[in-house]
Amino acid sequence: MSNYTHIFQGTAFSSNSLKELHILENHLFCINAEGMIEKVVAPADEDYDTLLSMYEGKENFHRLAKGQYFLPGFVDLHVHAPQWAQSGTALDIPLFDWLNTYTFPIESKFSDLSFAKMVYEDVVSTLLANGTTTALYFATVHKEASILLAEICAKKGQRGLVGKVVMDDPEQTPTYYRDADTKTALVDTEEFILAVKELAKSVKQGVYPVVTPRFIPSCTSEGLQGLGELAAKYDTYIQSHCSESDWAHQYVQERYGKNDAFALHDFGLLREKSVMAHCNFLDDADADLFAQTGTAISHCPISNAYFANSVIPLAHFHAKGVEIGLGSDISGGFSPSLFDNIRQAVMSSRMLEDGVNPALPANERGVPNARITVNEAFYFATAGGGESLSLPIGRLAENYTWDVQVIDTTIPSARLPIYEANEPLHDIFQKMMYLARPENIREVWVQGEKVHSR
Ligand SMILES: [Zn+2]
Repeated sequence: MSNYTHIFQGTAFSSNSLKELHILENHLFCINAEGMIEKVVAPADEDYDTLLSMYEGKENFHRLAKGQYFLPGFVDLHVHAPQWAQSGTALDIPLFDWLNTYTFPIESKFSDLSFAKMVYEDVVSTLLANGTTTALYFATVHKEASILLAEICAKKGQRGLVGKVVMDDPEQTPTYYRDADTKTALVDTEEFILAVKELAKSVKQGVYPVVTPRFIPSCTSEGLQGLGELAAKYDTYIQSHCSESDWAHQYVQERYGKNDAFALHDFGLLREKSVMAHCNFLDDADADLFAQTGTAISHCPISNAYFANSVIPLAHFHAKGVEIGLGSDISGGFSPSLFDNIRQAVMSSRMLEDGVNPALPANERGVPNARITVNEAFYFATAGGGESLSLPIGRLAENYTWDVQVIDTTIPSARLPIYEANEPLHDIFQKMMYLARPENIREVWVQGEKVHSR
């Protein structure tokens, strides 16, 4: 029998598919030296007792206490790491004003590496403490500070996908916060890609460079073209914002006479490794293009409530075959928790289905079949995020990484209302989804390494 690095025993919840939640009651999870789940053993399997007798009582055997459960680590597909410094502020103004009055000034401060270090150390630790084991980050336009963010993810044990942001259009960006010019933006991006690829060679859980045009309005056509070429040359991830708000959507229509999706595609920016934030205003042809190219949507439900002027028809896009994950969109979204975003995704979809204007008759008020369930939102936060990134993450199954959060439902300050000894596990799962707080997250593991405990 294999020599495992760790064996964990306990009850876990993992998505088999969008609709199907898999409950693995009192299973053994056998982890190898690469931090992968090599074997999952059910109590009825013949190996179960043999493994228990071999490992029980040893230092690398971990049994969950009563009231504790495993969940896959969350995959946050959209975080602006520098904006952690302004989370929770200025959510009462429109996107264009929010960017120019608050966001660009704060991001410009990341030319100062000591300021960057302070905020980036904090945001990575905070996300880990909230159960986020993989994060797709926008940094800022500054190459050095962007590399620093990747280094901090590497050091703290988080799987970080990091982008140096490109904003090279002087007509659409402030003098104090933009790339010097298009050529510099592309050279800096290429040097950033090479630096992060070099760093990645010694990082167990992986760090990845991401080609990151902020969004079409802040980039020149030459810049976008060059970034598409760099992504192809180095086979990198790509991230940007797509069809987020009325303003952003209309801006691209006026500039290119087409929607964001087709404009980005023209520049080579929609690929299997592309993740586009928001996408509320995709039409059916845009969604089909996403499905064909393997481009994923990062749905950011809290942020959307403030800046997107709409609720995304998520169920419709998923039915069309588009990959979807969840994003916190710090700080367009105020919360570093994907639990909070799971909740908002469900609530927003219910409001889309029912409609929100009571002056309208019920049959004209909403969008039929728009709701998603909490199981589906959990899928987007875990397995859906993994599929969006084409990485073996987000599920507790063989050949996936051991990226988990241990939820303790018995913490005195955040005890979940579980009273009956035989309460159905699916009910306990729902209570965790709706009521879990950071206090309940006792341990977080990434790629077989413990990265957070409380
Ligand atoms: Zn964003």
